[in-house]
Amino acid sequence: MQASATLSPAIEPVSIPVRELLPWAVFGSMLLLLAIYFVGVEEGAMAVFNTMYVHEFVHDGRHLLGFPCH
Ligand SMILES: [Zn+2]
Repeated sequence: MQASATLSPAIEPVSIPVRELLPWAVFGSMLLLLAIYFVGVEEGAMAVFNTMYVHEFVHDGRHLLGFPCH
């Protein structure tokens, strides 16, 4: 069974320290929150932009995720 040892070399998982992962997790969370804001809340009195372009651009996602719309 010498061949099986050469076909499957030892693969060890690489550990990623939480200290290196945390800034990326925070960054991803902020992007996610921003996306949820624009899909779910960017409408009417809560709108950041005065036009309906953002609302119309994410309109299908808004209905898909079940946010109240019209
Ligand atoms: Zn709608």
